[in-house]
Amino acid sequence: GANALDAVELGVKICEADPRERSVGLGGRPDRDGRVTLDACIMDHLGNIGSVAACEHVVHVSSLARAVMERTPHVMLVGDGATQFAKEQGFPLQNLMVPDSEAEWTKWLEKAEYKPIPNIENHDTIGQLTLDAEGRLAGCCTTSGMAFKMHGRVGDSPIIGAGLYVDGEVGAATATGHGEEVIRTVGSFRVVAAMKSGRSPQQACEDAVREIHKFFVRRGKPWADTQIGFIAVSTRGEVGGYALRPGFSYAVASADGVRVLTAESLLDS
Ligand code: ASP
Repeated sequence: GANALDAVELGVKICEADPRERSVGLGGRPDRDGRVTLDACIMDHLGNIGSVAACEHVVHVSSLARAVMERTPHVMLVGDGATQFAKEQGFPLQNLMVPDSEAEWTKWLEKAEYKPIPNIENHDTIGQLTLDAEGRLAGCCTTSGMAFKMHGRVGDSPIIGAGLYVDGEVGAATATGHGEEVIRTVGSFRVVAAMKSGRSPQQACEDAVREIHKFFVRRGKPWADTQIGFIAVSTRGEVGGYALRPGFSYAVASADGVRVLTAESLLDS
């Protein structure tokens, strides 16, 4: 009965508030300077968008992105400006570092090597897409990004078109994984554009992953350490999910219950 926009915000907020969920919100992993900087964006079926990037001290950056969308003439605020806006809007400001993150970061400093590990440990994102009973779509994406990233690094997750895209007449898509590659290929927009031209959500996710893989090959870049995953939903409620390599799962919730699905992948390992 709730509307899609409220649902996506409320859904991801559960993860943002959970300090054991180490890739978003409170307890999100820090950058190489030991600062937890969060990225998030939100989009509704009408094309309203809001986004914050490299934002410190705010647990619910999803709600802050929504506040940017609804209470400012802009679509994106970054860094200190995002935190300042949060303060003005009455968001509590707090330390997002938890003892486990502190310990991991201290250990990481011993070598200070930036090495993303596919699927686990140092990155992950919560992306939620919702189609409500009135047929309205919305999406929200929130993350602490790559652990031990350079301070100021922004990934795909707060970039509309890359980490998230919603077309109220077609469908919605969101991404997780190596943000630089998703930005390069405008991943989520690519998925929705494919759906617009008649591909199913599943086919559209597969097309986008294949295209990303082609970009790797074309650029002669190794992709051994990279994972990319997309999920998508159409206005008819069909869903799809696909990843570059195994290990990507996603949940589909409907009136019939919740299913956790393991996505097929382009590569075998
Ligand atoms: N896409 C996120 C980023 O690059 C990280 C992830 O989803 O794993 O910041």
